[in-house]
Amino acid sequence: MGIESQNSDKQVVKILTSPTDAYEMVLRQIKEWPLAAKNYADLSHCETKMVQIEGAWARVQYNPNRIISTGAKVDPASIEKRKCFLCTENLPAKQERLDFKDKYWVLCNPYPIFREHLTIACKEHVRQEFLPHFDSFLELTKTLEIYSVFYNGPQSGASAPDHMHFQAASTGSMTLDDIVQQVPLCHQPAKVMTFNASFRNGYLIGGSDKKMLKVYVERLMSTFIKEEDEWEPKMNVFCYYRNNEWLIVLIPRRQHRPWQYSAYDEDCFLSSPGAADIGGLFVTPRKEDYDRADADVLMDIYGQVCYSKEELDRFSKKL
Ligand SMILES: [Zn+2]
Repeated sequence: MGIESQNSDKQVVKILTSPTDAYEMVLRQIKEWPLAAKNYADLSHCETKMVQIEGAWARVQYNPNRIISTGAKVDPASIEKRKCFLCTENLPAKQERLDFKDKYWVLCNPYPIFREHLTIACKEHVRQEFLPHFDSFLELTKTLEIYSVFYNGPQSGASAPDHMHFQAASTGSMTLDDIVQQVPLCHQPAKVMTFNASFRNGYLIGGSDKKMLKVYVERLMSTFIKEEDEWEPKMNVFCYYRNNEWLIVLIPRRQHRPWQYSAYDEDCFLSSPGAADIGGLFVTPRKEDYDRADADVLMDIYGQVCYSKEELDRFSKKL
């Protein structure tokens, strides 16, 4: 159990000190919050299938409850109109919160795609932006230890681009987790390696020195393409903590959604790839899309939203 303390509004809140705190919170929420109970029970019955794409695996999940997230409008006008669901005052009364560093709420995601699905929301309503929260990202990964912590860029899968948040899932939930476990430890302050794993390509940044890791990540991000109306390039980031060092997987993104997302009739394929999909858990909220999701369809979608190895080599030349 986490340590209890008083927060500013005098409510007793628990503090996240270990992965057990998060795990126990999810169990409590499933027991006590009907929405979580229903959706976690539904998840356990979700149909899934493994699809091999050029030597790597993706797990396809048919999850109708995710239509809210997949279909979410994330353009500035729509965001402006809706009530922010991550702001403290709008969190559901039944949603428990664990405090992390006085700055974030660790929450049980009530629309899960993982058996333990956490959302870590900043207490302040500030835009989704990676670098200002980089140190917290590392600290959170260290505290959550057996979880994979990940980040969706504002135009790369985040359903609240206006409210800073990370997510986490127990390690092993995405096929990327298995690949990462094979990567040898760095045994140095920081090191950058290219990461070419079939349908997603990017960089691995490993090491034990937080400052140097940030320098490397920042330098890599400066080589990615950023549109005029964007405050950071499109990307998904994953982080792992092993033997006193971090391993960051940085995947630059070409675009958020494939063309099929806004197509009509039989051309339509409702896929809105975020970090989970890039990590190898490909979520389809519609049965017809789930049935059609074979290696060719997935490769086409991943190819549209991620860069090829050759394109990444061009970014690397700018370093
Ligand atoms: Zn907010």
